[in-house]
Amino acid sequence: MARYGLPDHVEFCTRCVQSNQKVVPSIVQRDTKEGSKSTLIFQDGVCLPCRIHEAKVNSIDWNFREQELLKLLDRYRSSNGNWDCIVPGSGGKDSIFQAHILKTKYGMNPLTVTWAPHLYTDVGRRNFDRWIRKGGFDNMLFTPDGERHGLLTRLAFKNLFHPFQPFIFGQRNYVMHISRQLGIKLIFFGENPAEYGGFRGEEDSPKMSKRYYVDSDRSSMRISGLSLDELKNEKKIDQYALRYYLPLTEEEYSKFSPAPHWLGYYVNFHPQSNYYYAQEHVGFETNDQRTEGTYSRYNSIDDKLDGFHYWCGYIKFGIGRATHEASQEIRNGDLTREEGVSLVRKYDGEFPARYFKEILEYIQMDEEEFFNLADSFRPEHLWVKSNSDWQLRHRVS
Ligand SMILES: [Zn+2]
Repeated sequence: MARYGLPDHVEFCTRCVQSNQKVVPSIVQRDTKEGSKSTLIFQDGVCLPCRIHEAKVNSIDWNFREQELLKLLDRYRSSNGNWDCIVPGSGGKDSIFQAHILKTKYGMNPLTVTWAPHLYTDVGRRNFDRWIRKGGFDNMLFTPDGERHGLLTRLAFKNLFHPFQPFIFGQRNYVMHISRQLGIKLIFFGENPAEYGGFRGEEDSPKMSKRYYVDSDRSSMRISGLSLDELKNEKKIDQYALRYYLPLTEEEYSKFSPAPHWLGYYVNFHPQSNYYYAQEHVGFETNDQRTEGTYSRYNSIDDKLDGFHYWCGYIKFGIGRATHEASQEIRNGDLTREEGVSLVRKYDGEFPARYFKEILEYIQMDEEEFFNLADSFRPEHLWVKSNSDWQLRHRVS
């Protein structure tokens, strides 16, 4: 039987390699263990992101969008050396690209804002330092209490098999609180998730919708699978300690009215080009080996937990890291579908062994508990056990 609100019938896109089991962004603060989720819409065998991409390629006038960007920047541009916009990021290729073009090409004075990774990789820490030092940016780095964040991550693993959930909340919401505290209204996020199939109809919107970062209803909010009351009473984590994980309230929002925009609306994002850009301008460094679970060396390499984030998705939805990357590269014309299929069959779901011991220590779990937990999250309509090995019932071809 299908779980997590996934469709019973598994289908793969005939243009890219994405499957219809992909969960699209929803109102993440209310994520629950088995709660209803929306999955990717397919039409005549083609997934929605492929359709959106095709429409985008055929219709967007990038010169016109740049003019729109210039008008927006002129409304907020600072003339006294104060920061005039915020670029959240980790020092990956995309945040380097975004902050750097805003500063050098468009003459803005961005403040970069970072929610620290769980456990920095060496290469990730070096890239973060290069971004700030060589790129010439002020940065505000927030590192949450390791004991508390480790506990939330452990709970997110146990309750949701989604270890990144508390990190994602912090990364999304912290920057909005900083924007409010410093009174810097203009914020640039990268690509709009609606382009990947969530929030239909918002893919052409330049501004991030309120629903991403405003929510006053604390009573129905859950972090790591627990309500705020449960976190307070059972785990001794009170709401004040969670304030940067939580969205703005309606009241905070209405007094301040921030202007978060998708830079990907104004500027044509291309992951490979961003990588070359980051390498040329700040000396961005790739992973010293192929990233586990995929074929690339430069996407999401700053956190030792990254590989587990993707591997957990592979267990729950049958979709691994190579599927996400190959689908995007096929759409961008960097891979053929045939190449994508072979990369997915080769690397998807590869276990991220490199930092496994450190991760277990971080979430205070032993190997047996970890793998038992993983098996309890495998939906029957995706997985079958044969000769003590788990096999996917459906694979892309
Ligand atoms: Zn597709």
